[in-house]
Amino acid sequence: MPLTIYNTLSRKKEVFEPLKPPHVGMYVCGPTVYGDAHLGHARPAITFDIVFRYLKHLGYKVRYVRNITDVGHLVDDADQGEDKIGRKARLEQLEPMEVVKYYTDRYHENMDQLNVLHPSIEPTASGHIIEQIEMVKKIIDNGFAYESEGSVYFDVEKYNKNHRYGKLSGRKVEELLENTRELAGQEEKKNSFDFALWKKADPTHLMHWPSPWSEGFPGWHMECSAMGAKYLGETFDIHGGGIDLLFPHHESEIAQANAANGHDAVRYWMHNNMITVEGQKMGKSLNNFITLNEFFSGSHEKLERAYSPMTIRFFILQAHYRSTVDFSNEALQAAEKGMKRLFEAMKLAGKLPASGQSSVDVQRFEQRCTEAMEDDFNTPVVIAHLFDLARIVNQVNDGKATLTADDIAFANRFFKTWLNELLGLKDEKEEDDSQMIEYLMETILKLRQEAKQNKDYATADRIRDELAKLNIQIKDTKDGVKWSLK
Ligand code: ZN
Repeated sequence: MPLTIYNTLSRKKEVFEPLKPPHVGMYVCGPTVYGDAHLGHARPAITFDIVFRYLKHLGYKVRYVRNITDVGHLVDDADQGEDKIGRKARLEQLEPMEVVKYYTDRYHENMDQLNVLHPSIEPTASGHIIEQIEMVKKIIDNGFAYESEGSVYFDVEKYNKNHRYGKLSGRKVEELLENTRELAGQEEKKNSFDFALWKKADPTHLMHWPSPWSEGFPGWHMECSAMGAKYLGETFDIHGGGIDLLFPHHESEIAQANAANGHDAVRYWMHNNMITVEGQKMGKSLNNFITLNEFFSGSHEKLERAYSPMTIRFFILQAHYRSTVDFSNEALQAAEKGMKRLFEAMKLAGKLPASGQSSVDVQRFEQRCTEAMEDDFNTPVVIAHLFDLARIVNQVNDGKATLTADDIAFANRFFKTWLNELLGLKDEKEEDDSQMIEYLMETILKLRQEAKQNKDYATADRIRDELAKLNIQIKDTKDGVKWSLK
């Protein structure tokens, strides 16, 4: 059964065949680091974490590049106005790179909490100015860009004569012309839909570099084209991101690649859909931009209480990545309950009584879950099968069904592989319990140490003997007291 991926460019599911197996190159647009990550950041991170995990499970060697945008992304995603990070730095009276460092660290922390695996490479736009300048030069040399007042713009009309600007998003250049002609501040451009490859920095702009055209900074779409080519080659397998990046960001990346190299860079375009909040798009004005930290602490007026990182992850995986997901307290609470049921079944599976015969077929789940995953990463169907297996585990526990020792071992392995490794879900209760045990042991050993210091050997020995009854062994070593389960 081959893996199929829905390619946004061809608008159909295609069998996945990497360019140079067993290697797979995957590029995903990462965050612009000027604020805390919210639910809209969690979705692409988790979506492509699933792709990353599953491709590795299939035996591919995946080079996963997820960038950090630290310069060039202007407010309103347009070619005019302030840099998002520069603006934050001005308002907070910080160096732009202080803003970048602060929010990059917080983003990483959130991603770890969500159990999102680290990408193989995490390049920054500001660290690849030279590569971006080189690519702009190439596009100018090929005749698809022009310089104007120190800035360089992509000539969409010229490009569109032999290529199709809009082939990813389905937009037509004629319509773009009608919709954007009246915008002010566009005098430098031949056409309002031309986009910046390089912008001359005005005197208030904080981040700027020398270039053949001006002291300035790269256009937002350049970084992904330049860094994708640098780390994955002129042609690579998968490019992912949120569907909000389809236009103009990814559309422009396609145009840049063709203008510079004469061909598409990406073979499979993947886009995750959006998260709505109680049916509405997330937006600052609606006060429904709930950050991940607010979810984890419950500190937002729309939240009835706190929700754990794994609840957020499970909630997102309950929908197919190409469907919209609507956030509500009820939906999150249902997700939390469902996930708890799966982990209880997983724990129970480790203690089931074995029978001579199985009354149900559990091994079929391997093929069923594989089929679901290979059908464009259909995680909700995988989860539905896991619930079916959980029901069987409960039936066996209640004496209403039987499983052989082999099938029980299969069920245990199956939960571990699919729930923990492929869906990346962790039993948070188990983690909490083990943290508590660590803390209790530390406290007990400290009390024993104090007893010894006070020459109260009777108490010290009693603590050691009581722990021995629980199969806990303590050893005095030169690095202090160690404990272990016998
Ligand atoms: Zn990008």
